[in-house]
Amino acid sequence: MWFVTLSKLNRAHRHVLGELGNLGLWSDAMAQVQVWLRPFATTCFGWQDYGSTGDIHIPAVAGPRVLAKFGFNEGCSLRQLLRHEWAHALAHHHHDLVANREFRQAFDGPHDHGEPVRAYCPTRHISPYAATQPMEDFAENFMHFVKHRGNLPAQWQTGHIEKRWEYLHRLATKIP
Ligand SMILES: [Zn+2]
Repeated sequence: MWFVTLSKLNRAHRHVLGELGNLGLWSDAMAQVQVWLRPFATTCFGWQDYGSTGDIHIPAVAGPRVLAKFGFNEGCSLRQLLRHEWAHALAHHHHDLVANREFRQAFDGPHDHGEPVRAYCPTRHISPYAATQPMEDFAENFMHFVKHRGNLPAQWQTGHIEKRWEYLHRLATKIP
């Protein structure tokens, strides 16, 4: 799949909303988030208006998705993309739950730090992208957390990643 249609997006979106609800990672505030299908983006798979509207935007044609089709970079399923963007939407609507000491301890720095805290290390970071800044570390862990229903796969059972998933388990109990 090198382009996203509205029906594909709706199907993936419904699936992910069900997962978020089942895991307790859902709230009335998050229900205000709109998910938009956009025509194209050159440099990303999708984005979220963190700190402004809170909405999620998924381009029908995304530069990285086209490159992945030809094997130039790794692809990203629509469900994984939505799970990742929903992490940012959750942080947008429940900022107090990420702007705290617990978050800083779990993700090695403040949510809105905006730059790398530590160089990428596979026992610390669930993906290379997670090392770009704490907000993305959170979103990448959240994405896999939702996909695996909170059960941490053996390959990621390291102290650092376990600490992040413990935070996510506690987060689910705190969402109003
Ligand atoms: Zn992100």
